[in-house]
Amino acid sequence: MVTITIDGKQFEVDNQRTIIEAARDNGIEIPHFCWHPKLSVAGNCRICLVEVEKLPKLVIACSTRVADGMVVHTANPKVVNAREAVMEFLLINHPLDCPICDEAGECKLQDYAYNYSAGSSRFDETKIHKLKRVELGPRVLLDMERCIMCSRCIRFCDEIAGKPQLTFTERGDHVELTTFPGEVLDNPYSMNTIDICPVGALTSRDFRFKARVWEMSATETICPGCARGCNMYSWVRNNEILRQTPRYNAEVNEYWMCDYGRLNTFKHVNNKDRIKAPRARKEEEPVEVGWDQALAYVASELKTFKRFEIAAVGSAHATNEDNYVFRKFATEVLGTTHIDFLPQVKEGDEDDILLRADKTPNSYGAREVGIRPKEKGLSFDGIMKAINEGQIKALFVLEDNIAIDPVVARVLESLEFLVVNSSFENETTRLADVTLPSATYAEKNGTFTNFEGRVQRIRPSVTVLELDRSLDGFAMSRLDKFGSQSDRWAKGPKLDARPHWKIVAGVASLMGAKFRYNTAEDVFSEISSTVESFKGMSYQKIGNRGMMLRMRQEASSDLARMTSP
Ligand code: SF4
Ligand code: SF4
Repeated sequence: MVTITIDGKQFEVDNQRTIIEAARDNGIEIPHFCWHPKLSVAGNCRICLVEVEKLPKLVIACSTRVADGMVVHTANPKVVNAREAVMEFLLINHPLDCPICDEAGECKLQDYAYNYSAGSSRFDETKIHKLKRVELGPRVLLDMERCIMCSRCIRFCDEIAGKPQLTFTERGDHVELTTFPGEVLDNPYSMNTIDICPVGALTSRDFRFKARVWEMSATETICPGCARGCNMYSWVRNNEILRQTPRYNAEVNEYWMCDYGRLNTFKHVNNKDRIKAPRARKEEEPVEVGWDQALAYVASELKTFKRFEIAAVGSAHATNEDNYVFRKFATEVLGTTHIDFLPQVKEGDEDDILLRADKTPNSYGAREVGIRPKEKGLSFDGIMKAINEGQIKALFVLEDNIAIDPVVARVLESLEFLVVNSSFENETTRLADVTLPSATYAEKNGTFTNFEGRVQRIRPSVTVLELDRSLDGFAMSRLDKFGSQSDRWAKGPKLDARPHWKIVAGVASLMGAKFRYNTAEDVFSEISSTVESFKGMSYQKIGNRGMMLRMRQEASSDLARMTSP
């Protein structure tokens, strides 16, 4: 450790840190474009120049190591003057098209221009013009005029994604970012370049021009695309998710997420195939019914079966809370031991960056709260066999489209009673006697447990019951005029979906059980007092970084004890 002084304050810092890192560790932000905490140092933008006493000229904070007794000035007139010069230089050829730039509102160049620029330009020559819409890959577009040649995107592809796909060509004012000959920017993590581009040079082909950043709200939640559980923000305008971006968590995903999770896990929330109201089959045809009627029907039908004639299939897509209440209902109310879920593992479809072969967010948690065969109970395959042989006659399925497998679909046809909680129309709901519309991960509170045993919070970013009311008069008139994706909800029937735990607790109460939960947090409190590995947890303690299951914490501390000198 060494002692340094930054802007008049003394700090003890690790002697391996650079000035920019030491300052940041102690809450002092030094402006930067090309530096990124997880990339190698390029030192090319020069905006991080600082003064170090006894050195003859300003130094760049990103590549200068701290030394004992060092005295650093990050904001004195000499430094600010240099920063203004760098900004003037960077803006010479910049198109200044903030009013039509997706990055506006979250752009470092814009922010620093407010802080460190004269407000007018002394440059009256003609600016160099470059291509404004270059398709670097299937998901990323480049505006060459906006690029400030920081090389963050190039280093990301080389160092994090492990795919060197980008490079610079030409020299001086004419430098251009491009792909290597024969390459396209198509690695599975390519859209992280958009996040780390400090200006609006790289934009998402999916999100481009859909909304200004200040029109959206950002909710801290978890990607449901695989068992990693990447932390992310869900960005919403007019009750519609428009984009998902990574949220820093050093223990899970650092600053990144994969393109699949970013793009493919939210569009179904606004899908027109959502089930909008409970449905019960009446003389072969399913008809929409009210919630009270649907739950009463399910309860009365389930009561007609013996406990060994019923099985329950939980879901690794559902939360710990959903699965816990479902397990409790299956074992304590229905009295069945036949309980399991269908794992969804795509062997080989994983890497050593983030992606996991398990394409569900909560298989660890589902097992942990009890979604597994009890005593002599049957596994999923055993349940299917028993249905086929006529031993199991009634089945309750949470969320998963198990009948997508034609063999399973044929087996389910022989059931006497099938209840399905689902958000979407699918092969399984088409066979159901009762379908109960469930909220998606984006519409409810709860927790997922990732593949390492980290329990993390999901939070609702859109609402299901108040879709119409969430659109004010102005938004409605815009929808009428432009026909946005949201208008199917605004004009169609209301979506009346509920979280699984609430649906199941409703049926349980009608069957004489006392399931008294008002919120997902009530369910979680019970989990933390009854499930050993969740002991001592609460939503507050989980916070926005997550918390390891108890045995995992103990295993880590045992390992630390064994490996400490
Ligand atoms: S496109 Fe963005 S991240 Fe890439 S070099 Fe240019 S400014 Fe930097
Ligand atoms: S790695 Fe998994 S959890 Fe992370 S963004 Fe991709 S799909 Fe989502």
